[in-house]
Amino acid sequence: MKDAIVHNLATIHQRIAQAAHACQRDPASIQLLAVSKRQPVEAIEQAWQAGQYAFGENYLQEALEKITTLKSKPINWHFIGALQSNKATAVAHHFDWVHSIHTLKIAQKLAQQRSEAQPPLNVCLQINLDAEPTKSGIALAELSALAVQVASLEKLCLRGLMALPAPRLGFVEQCRAYAPLQEAFTALQAAYPSCDTLSIGTSADLEAAITMGATCVRIGEGIFGPRPI
Ligand SMILES: *Cc1c(COP(=O)(O)O)cnc(C)c1O
Repeated sequence: MKDAIVHNLATIHQRIAQAAHACQRDPASIQLLAVSKRQPVEAIEQAWQAGQYAFGENYLQEALEKITTLKSKPINWHFIGALQSNKATAVAHHFDWVHSIHTLKIAQKLAQQRSEAQPPLNVCLQINLDAEPTKSGIALAELSALAVQVASLEKLCLRGLMALPAPRLGFVEQCRAYAPLQEAFTALQAAYPSCDTLSIGTSADLEAAITMGATCVRIGEGIFGPRPI
């Protein structure tokens, strides 16, 4: 498994570099977030040994166990899962980033719970691009109203947008799905200089996401292989 993870990481870095060059972007402007949900601590350790220091987790209880086990290692932990307000306290204390902000109430709770000693929590607003009832996230029409309120919260730093659109077949369709988001992100950046993060792209569509301006791609199976059930 160890060799597989090291090999897969190299392959993903290669895909990122190729996609960046194809659209005249600097590969260094794209961060790789390793999505380690449902993967064992050993898998995270192996990726870490290979130089991967940012990990995304979806399930709070599972994530807290991993964070505790790995606390001697400098790791950037990103919460990317569905976020209810009863999880906000633990998320505010144990994570560096939250990609899945979708209500003012959750943003306020995270801001309240972030301790004085910690730097502001980096947050992205989640956009539900296809209005899927099974996913959280706001519509683009709601973005400017939520952004102005989140940006005013002192213990949060508004960094940008996150989306996970419904799967599309093929590069052209994948790019098309991201087009409205790219436009909204450009407008958001003009209004809020702290916004530098467009968190889009998974194992299946990272090339399209990078073409459409991704600054953070969230890769799970492409690094760790199929997730254990
Ligand atoms: C699981 C997950 C990913 C990674 O998807 P892969 O297909 O494993 O690359 C990215 N983003 C979110 C929000 C996820 O839940």
